[in-house]
Amino acid sequence: MIQFDKVNKWYGEHHVLTDIDLHVNKGEVVVVCGPSGSGKSTMIRTINRLEEIQQGTITVNGQDVHARGVNINHLRQGIGFVFQQFNLFPHMSAIDNVMYAPVQIQKQSKAQARALAEQLLERVGLAHKADAYPGSLSGGQQQRVAIARALALKPPVMLFDEPTSALDPEMVGEVLQVMKSLARDGMTMICVTHEMGFAREVSDRVVFMDAGKIIEVDTPDAFFSNPKHPRAQKFLADVV
Ligand code: ATP
Ligand code: MG
Repeated sequence: MIQFDKVNKWYGEHHVLTDIDLHVNKGEVVVVCGPSGSGKSTMIRTINRLEEIQQGTITVNGQDVHARGVNINHLRQGIGFVFQQFNLFPHMSAIDNVMYAPVQIQKQSKAQARALAEQLLERVGLAHKADAYPGSLSGGQQQRVAIARALALKPPVMLFDEPTSALDPEMVGEVLQVMKSLARDGMTMICVTHEMGFAREVSDRVVFMDAGKIIEVDTPDAFFSNPKHPRAQKFLADVV
């Protein structure tokens, strides 16, 4: 479903991604972890071309996403992206945030988009907040609206970049709960997160990055009980 082949990226002289090879199957949940600055965000942002690459290929559903002539807007419609900062439209209610892309980009009727948005808000536990504005919602609620908004275009793939890092601790669980339910429903997901409980319970594989390289890929059981690389051992000793 998502395939990296020998992907390399530089910022000027700085080699930020080195020979990234990774294959994510349909329905798989992959957690990406590693120290700050190791290239986790850069790696997942290359998938929907929020970042360009200089070498290698990335395909999503067989499409070479960095090929010349790719319609980036179209590409991004098929890849849901949830950021650490929720980035909701502040002047729109929760339901209008969720309806925005289906109406504006896919030209769905408002009635159809509203029906779907209601379902999605229900799914993230926020049916009762449909008319609330982001400013009146908690961080956890805003992030759940952001997930509903990302789901509104029915993407086959969802990417998460530290979706719970900006939240107060008591709100982390409600967001992870929504992500767990997506995983259970078979969504293909790549999640950059330091939530090792989530990784252990939900992921199929854990990818550990350091200094722009993938240095370990393992099942969560193997990764947490017996990390092979000394840097992964140190990372786990520090975060868990
Ligand atoms: P964190 O855990 O702090 O989010 P990360 O693993 O997501 O870290 P990246 O944000 O992908 O790391 O950054 C990887 C490297 O690329 C870092 O050394 C960072 O300083 C550098 N970098 C990121 N964005 C840019 C940019 N726009 N220009 C130059 N260098 C950048
Ligand atoms: Mg990051």
